[in-house]
Amino acid sequence: MSDTTSTVRIGLVLPDVMGTYGDGGNALVLRQRARMRGIDAQIQQITLDDPVPESLDVYTLGGAEDYAQRLATRHLTRHPGLQRAAERGAPVLAICAAIQVLGHWYETSAGERVDGISLLDLTTRPQEIRSIGELATTPLIDELDAPLLGFENHRGGSTLGPAARPLGRVDHGVGNGAGEKIEGAVQGSVIGTYLHGPALARNPQLADLLLRRALGVESLPPLDLDEVNRLRTERLAAARRG
Ligand code: GLN
Repeated sequence: MSDTTSTVRIGLVLPDVMGTYGDGGNALVLRQRARMRGIDAQIQQITLDDPVPESLDVYTLGGAEDYAQRLATRHLTRHPGLQRAAERGAPVLAICAAIQVLGHWYETSAGERVDGISLLDLTTRPQEIRSIGELATTPLIDELDAPLLGFENHRGGSTLGPAARPLGRVDHGVGNGAGEKIEGAVQGSVIGTYLHGPALARNPQLADLLLRRALGVESLPPLDLDEVNRLRTERLAAARRG
């Protein structure tokens, strides 16, 4: 967090075009989990009418249909504030279409190849079958140990290059692509995932990881997890049923 302010500034990037499945809720979860600890937090919405500021403390981007995703890609290419923020280590959460936009390129379901912004070493091609359903993974990064849960709905399948590592190993669902059994991408301060949900409402550990990084602290006071754990138990059972 910047020295000049005691507020965590959360960038909700392009909710006007990238917000399928209420992914904007991820910014609300970050704000609420900060405020419940007595930390002031504000959401700054960045729409297609705005340049992307590079000085915010944490950024979230959501999923989108192919056309909306193209508009977002063009905007992020023209206004490279997110790229600059990631370069200085600001945490970025990219959901579904956003993981594709943050890669080197993606092919739409109509077969057009669109250049992404190369924050993640990955490429995306349409899969034969759309992946839809509950997704549950075992996290592969040190700071997380609880299963990651969400809902996936994507035609694109992403292949990671050597600079990106997966976020999780797939226990239920498809993840990055049929057969690979891995999910998401982590590179520097960027975390990409196919988990919709909004993902942070279901995965408080991931929310707190982003908050800790935004604040530059090692730990945060624990919060009551009863309600979210009830939701997680119910959703994990749904994922197991398939
Ligand atoms: N349009 C992309 C795909 O189908 C992303 C979809 C989404 O964000 N739900 O792969």
